[in-house]
Amino acid sequence: MSVPAAIAPAPANPALPYLPLTRPTIDEETIAGVCEVLRSGWITSGPNVKALEGKLSEYFGGRPVRVFNSGTCTMEIALRIAGIGAGHEVITTPLSWVATSNVILEVGATPVFVDIDPVTRNLDLNLVEGAITPATRAIIPVDLAGLPVDRDRLYAIAKKHNLRVVEDAAQSMGTTWNGKRIGAFGDFVSVSFHPNKNITTIEGGCLVMNTEAEAKLAEQYRLQGVVRSGFDGMEVEVVGGKFNLTDVAARVGLGQLPRLQEFNDRRRELARAYFAAFAARDAKALGLGLPVEDLTQSNWHMFQVVLPSGLKRAEVMAALHAAGIGAGVHYPAIHLFAIYRRLGWNPGDFPIAEAVCRSILTLPLFPTMSGADVARVVEALVGIVKGRV
Ligand SMILES: *Cc1c(COP(=O)(O)O)cnc(C)c1O
Repeated sequence: MSVPAAIAPAPANPALPYLPLTRPTIDEETIAGVCEVLRSGWITSGPNVKALEGKLSEYFGGRPVRVFNSGTCTMEIALRIAGIGAGHEVITTPLSWVATSNVILEVGATPVFVDIDPVTRNLDLNLVEGAITPATRAIIPVDLAGLPVDRDRLYAIAKKHNLRVVEDAAQSMGTTWNGKRIGAFGDFVSVSFHPNKNITTIEGGCLVMNTEAEAKLAEQYRLQGVVRSGFDGMEVEVVGGKFNLTDVAARVGLGQLPRLQEFNDRRRELARAYFAAFAARDAKALGLGLPVEDLTQSNWHMFQVVLPSGLKRAEVMAALHAAGIGAGVHYPAIHLFAIYRRLGWNPGDFPIAEAVCRSILTLPLFPTMSGADVARVVEALVGIVKGRV
């Protein structure tokens, strides 16, 4: 990657390896377990899928859980189970992975964005009621970076207006709200097991539901709508897709779930180290926006800063890259993507989200990182910002 000379920093210390944005932790026991599955003769959905669903259901307080091959189809299927489609509106945030609103379009409904809270960077619950119309059927909140949306206020609004909730908890596995585990209460809860998330099945996700009837329907939407009975019975009553998780992937998940707490504890320690290092360098005086210092509820899926508004993010990323440090953008504002612009959204529609999305930057954070890695990132970033403001 070439960096313009004007912004090229001192050459990276060749003794330091490249520090990636994130990295999954897969232990040898899990790798051996995957080999066993591969040798077993049953590699697609089977006993490991069932076992993972059982463990996840236990984890989520006994609620019905099904696993899928992404944390995107989970949300699409939740909307289908809720009967949401053409003519319906679904309220969500413009600051998320584009999957969050793509699934609304996918089922034929209309996304309705509301702006974000500049402090939490999650959808601003103060704006939700003003966006409700007679066509509104659901809300999809997102716990960005693992910081929980206020569930008490969210469900008070949903109840008052008789709306379904599909929690996009893709990033908040292991997060809690007032002592209660995200997913163990509420309406639909969708989690992703993408490799960047706090636990992984390589690709995959799960949907937590309310009733066995919903879970049965989820199974139909997961695999071509098929319902089998007896030795040779087969019926198809809904148009389902091809969203089943393989047993190989499920075996990875079975090795990951018991380590979730340990991974999240480590992430929290590293977040604490980030806050201490940024405070020591007086980062706030430099205009760096830090995340909410939630060291109890968040699972610290990401540590995201908002750069001072005059700085060009791409230049900062290039300088970090040159210093051997990976960084990421999560995310560009959804309503400004071409397909959403064609549907009528424009720059200026959600000014807070747009400002944050222009300058938000995700720093490395994963369980096998060291405290020295955190110090290195903060030194590099503060140096880069100081050189430019
Ligand atoms: C990762 C993610 C998804 C989608 O999950 P996949 O498993 O990649 O389909 C959806 N929403 C958010 C907020 C995410 O971070």
